[in-house]
Amino acid sequence: MAKLTVRDLNVKGKRVFLRVDYNVPLEEKDGKMVITDATRIVETLHTLKLLIEQGGRLILTAHLGRPKGKREATMSLRPVADKLHELLGQPVAFADDCIGEHVEKIAAALKDGEVALLENVRYYNEEEANDPAFAEKLAKVADVYVNDAFGAAHRAHASTEGVARVVAKRGGQCAAGLLMERELKFLGDELEKPARPFVVILGGAKVSDKIKVIDRLLEKADTILIGGAMAYTFRLAHGQKVGKSLVEPDRQAMALAAEAKAKQLKVNFELPSDVVVAKPVPTDKLNKKGKPVMDFVNIHTVTDAIPDDAEGFSIGEQTAAHYAKIILGAKTILWNGPMGMFEDARFAAGTNAVAKAVAEATQKHGAKSIIGGGDSVKALNQAKLGDQVSFMSTGGGASLEFLEGAVLPGVAALSDK
Ligand code: ADP
Ligand code: MG
Repeated sequence: MAKLTVRDLNVKGKRVFLRVDYNVPLEEKDGKMVITDATRIVETLHTLKLLIEQGGRLILTAHLGRPKGKREATMSLRPVADKLHELLGQPVAFADDCIGEHVEKIAAALKDGEVALLENVRYYNEEEANDPAFAEKLAKVADVYVNDAFGAAHRAHASTEGVARVVAKRGGQCAAGLLMERELKFLGDELEKPARPFVVILGGAKVSDKIKVIDRLLEKADTILIGGAMAYTFRLAHGQKVGKSLVEPDRQAMALAAEAKAKQLKVNFELPSDVVVAKPVPTDKLNKKGKPVMDFVNIHTVTDAIPDDAEGFSIGEQTAAHYAKIILGAKTILWNGPMGMFEDARFAAGTNAVAKAVAEATQKHGAKSIIGGGDSVKALNQAKLGDQVSFMSTGGGASLEFLEGAVLPGVAALSDK
């Protein structure tokens, strides 16, 4: 069902309670917390400016880190208020709490087009518990509710779900912000009736993480390309040797069932024909958890059995070329999960080749390309191709759940059009 968006609202003179994703990385410098990457704040500016131009009185709420119900000074949103002031070019009032008299006073003083930011909503355990009384307290300053934090929409928390219910019950409107609107458009509407051929690329670490997505997309896709460590569970299920590769022995039946379903639905289901493997050897360095940091030696490509002392780390060159060919013929592409351990340059080639093909299909053949999953987005940015695809989701876990077909509580709570 289509949801109301900020474009449908008239918020002049109204108090707009706006849930944003300001969970930005911070670092301590000279006793002060400094934002090291303001992308998430920058991304909200379109929604903020639209509401400011309409004359709304904006009250922003967000979470930062995991303070677990306590006032952790290092997780204060105050630095975000300063950054927002700078980016918006207008003052941003900061309330050092998210509920209570102080907040009500600040909200009452706001004039049309003015902005306030509330302190970290997770300073209260009631937020994640979606406590109804807490949601009522948040809603005290809300005439209209807007949610632009897609990445938090898969959680039914007070600021993502509870407060929307309160506003709706009073007859107030609950709408998606522009970021949320784009996520729903690309991950939802665009994949509802995709232009064909529709090619789905699935990778990442585990079959168990992606099986629901595989299952659902088998009903829509023309081709599914499998990569990443999850391919080795399929290999294992076929009785092939996987050496020391990351596998889930208890998911072999699941893997075979997915292949059987593909056959039945006449979906072209492809597994890697070659694999880049290496022998892991411990170095004398220890990681944060006290375990030895591994190095990888004897890096080479195999087409059949992975040697007993070796581990698979990426799709091979032959697979990458084959996948690229299929991708270049696609009209819709959905990619979730890297093709290998791309964080290590020695194992990034397969992922990069697929990224290049997705970019080329988009730029030269007019394909629509949609990237979901935090690490997939990282891989695309690492390959410097982030701006060459149609859409990169900011949702992480929320995108995965949405692609699985789950109803996200933060989306369900918004008003229907
Ligand atoms: P996303 O965040 O895009 O949904 P996942 O979290 O499912 O992706 O998977 C990404 C992780 O999987 C990356 O950290 C990558 O290093 C890892 N990975 C992919 N292939 C392999 C492999 N063959 N061996 C070990 N790790 C792998
Ligand atoms: Mg991930």
